[in-house]
Amino acid sequence: MHQIDNPKLFGDRLLAWYATHKRSLPFRDVYNPYYTLVSELMLQQTQMETAVPYFIRFVERYPTVCDLARASIEDVLKLWEGLGYYRRAHHLHEAAKTVCDVYHGTFPKDLALIESLKGVGRYTARAIHSIAFEQPSVAVDGNVLRVMTRVLRYDADVMKEQTRRTIETVLEPVIQHQKPSDFTQAMMELGATICQKKPQCERCPLQAMCEAYAQGDPSAYPVKSVKKDKIRNAVQVFVYAEDDHYLLVQRPDNGLLANLYTFWQDENDFETAVKNFEQTYGVNVVHHQILTTFNHVFSHVVWEMTVHLISTQHPVRAKLYDLTTFPYAIAKAHLKIREILLK
Ligand code: SF4
Repeated sequence: MHQIDNPKLFGDRLLAWYATHKRSLPFRDVYNPYYTLVSELMLQQTQMETAVPYFIRFVERYPTVCDLARASIEDVLKLWEGLGYYRRAHHLHEAAKTVCDVYHGTFPKDLALIESLKGVGRYTARAIHSIAFEQPSVAVDGNVLRVMTRVLRYDADVMKEQTRRTIETVLEPVIQHQKPSDFTQAMMELGATICQKKPQCERCPLQAMCEAYAQGDPSAYPVKSVKKDKIRNAVQVFVYAEDDHYLLVQRPDNGLLANLYTFWQDENDFETAVKNFEQTYGVNVVHHQILTTFNHVFSHVVWEMTVHLISTQHPVRAKLYDLTTFPYAIAKAHLKIREILLK
């Protein structure tokens, strides 16, 4: 692996580029650790264009960390509806409660204390420490990994924690010479807008210092070990309605999609799902028609969903809801079904 010969020059070039090219974002240049926490959690697994409107709505509803801490989880999940990976919303709510109750609403400045908050890992803690508190902590996310493995022509597996740690060490002398908040955001910005999967090297401020560019092989980096195939589960969804009011059920308060609402579903074959539905509600399913089929992809599993419109011999004795006024959060996998039904 190559090294950065001149850490100061590297940082100067990067920050000069950032000063004129950075995108205007609602959580940029505000030095608010609560904003950094919300934005970082939203941006995990979510594109910037999608996350920004959610961020704006979120901080309008909960302007301070204690406003969020005092909210009900149902309201938080409703505001998160459609972003997916709802565990992030649960973690954010828990972290806000800790900051509000344990630290009296003042975000801790100590790196270890930030990292002890629910849902905050090494990268997010370092991002908050540098962006909101101007501390020289190097934060290495996927964007930074991509940039730096190319700059250094570093072929270690980026799925390994040791690779991240090595990049952190390489960047420590760089951040020491710069404003930490700008440095952290500039690295991420370069990865997000220039050193993308298909890099735009002709527009890159680091071109003269980039080994992969010099060797003509940026696309060979980063090197990633192959992930195991995801588990694929067949899921039967039963849509039951009377007078435009639908059966929706709440998931348990732990596990995948905790607390969220879905149309009734069963992870079995169709015949078994029918039996389970009939046993749960004490009715006979007399008719079904397939409404749609689609796959919903989670980080580790794929749901192969078959959605059936069903009717029963006797009415189902359960609360039914108007989809247009339903007040709770519906799991992303089921929002597609709601959209089809509302059309
Ligand atoms: S020169 Fe190209 S490959 Fe190297 S950091 Fe810049 S955009 Fe990425």
